[in-house]
Amino acid sequence: MIPPLLTALWSYLRVRTFSGRVRDRAALALWQDRRLAAWLAKDVPRVDAFAQLRGQTVSLADLPVMDKATLMADFSRYTLPRITNAQGWAAFDGTRRMGDLTIGASTGTSGNRGLFVISEAERFAWLGAILAKAVPDVWRRRDRVAVLLPLDTPLYDSANQTGRLRLRFFDITGPVDSFAADLVGFAPTIIVAPPRILRRLTGLDLIPRRVFSAAEKLEEFDRTAIEAGFGVPLGQIYMATEGLLGVTCAQGRLHLAEDCLHFAFEPVGGGLVSPILSDFSRRTQIMARYRLNDLLRLDQAPCPCGSPLQVVAEVVGRADDIFVLPGPQGRVELTPDILRNAIVDADRGIDDFLLVQTGPAAMVLHLPKANLGQVGDKTLARLRRVLDRHGVAPGYSLDIAELTRHAGGKLRRVRRDFKG
Ligand SMILES: [Zn+2]
Repeated sequence: MIPPLLTALWSYLRVRTFSGRVRDRAALALWQDRRLAAWLAKDVPRVDAFAQLRGQTVSLADLPVMDKATLMADFSRYTLPRITNAQGWAAFDGTRRMGDLTIGASTGTSGNRGLFVISEAERFAWLGAILAKAVPDVWRRRDRVAVLLPLDTPLYDSANQTGRLRLRFFDITGPVDSFAADLVGFAPTIIVAPPRILRRLTGLDLIPRRVFSAAEKLEEFDRTAIEAGFGVPLGQIYMATEGLLGVTCAQGRLHLAEDCLHFAFEPVGGGLVSPILSDFSRRTQIMARYRLNDLLRLDQAPCPCGSPLQVVAEVVGRADDIFVLPGPQGRVELTPDILRNAIVDADRGIDDFLLVQTGPAAMVLHLPKANLGQVGDKTLARLRRVLDRHGVAPGYSLDIAELTRHAGGKLRRVRRDFKG
């Protein structure tokens, strides 16, 4: 077996030199086709779900689209070691290890959580790729990287084993005060955290050289506050349980990690797409034509950085947070960006909010206490205009409440709690 650090280094170098070798979309498509063909022939048919493909020449389009529900109906069918759901959850609740395999789970709502399994080699390849993209000069610097995430996945334990790089994890399931002194003592040069945490860290005595938002939706008002607070441009790492999906380039634009996995895009209306992933870099768990619950707005203009990797203008939110409301001719769907824009455009003073669909025709807008009076009225009026314009039937309820501090879990500012 290849030692893990060599795997990380190989992956790092491969990703670092990728744009030099694969210069445009056509070359990228050719390169991906070769990777996909080898993966479809060799790795995909080894799991039970695709056993019927053994010995056949198939293309990606021949495979059905799957999602988390398909995967979790029988986890063993998609994993090389045939790990059952019961075995997977037992390992996750225990050591999160099975031999040299790591078992993780997504942070979804209960009943909607997904398992994943990753080998040691895949874990280190992932680490090399993320370093190459996020901190390309990491091998020349002695960085101290602080990663602040809800630590429900051991994927991130990889890096503290690499020599030059000091890496520490801070579990944000507790309050910021519980780790603030430790974090300041560590004096990180690179900080990775969800935007709501980064905003709170700007009040601490920290002087990072790079700051990355990760794991939650980044709003423009978050970006403004974070960049002003730290005095450095904010980068973005787009990741999911499903892997590393994208990283901001030197030009500040978010590129999908098409040098690590294949993306197809399913239109969902309003100029948005849901990505369908085929991860040709992994074989312990097969993710082939796997529909992600995210909504993206793509940017088709080439990036001045020269990378052929697809640019994402915005990670808009989650598909299951699309509001579904009654209209005169049936259901009206409103994507999170429409609702968010209505709120932040109502008044420039709004720098935090929460909008929740709580029932079949009921919504509650939460604003900070300072915004509850006149700003709140203006915002409600604007939201009503947007709802009317999109054809939501009159008679819905839209209430306002005071925003309280986010209690934990992944923050989604536009959220559908009602699953009718
Ligand atoms: Zn770029």
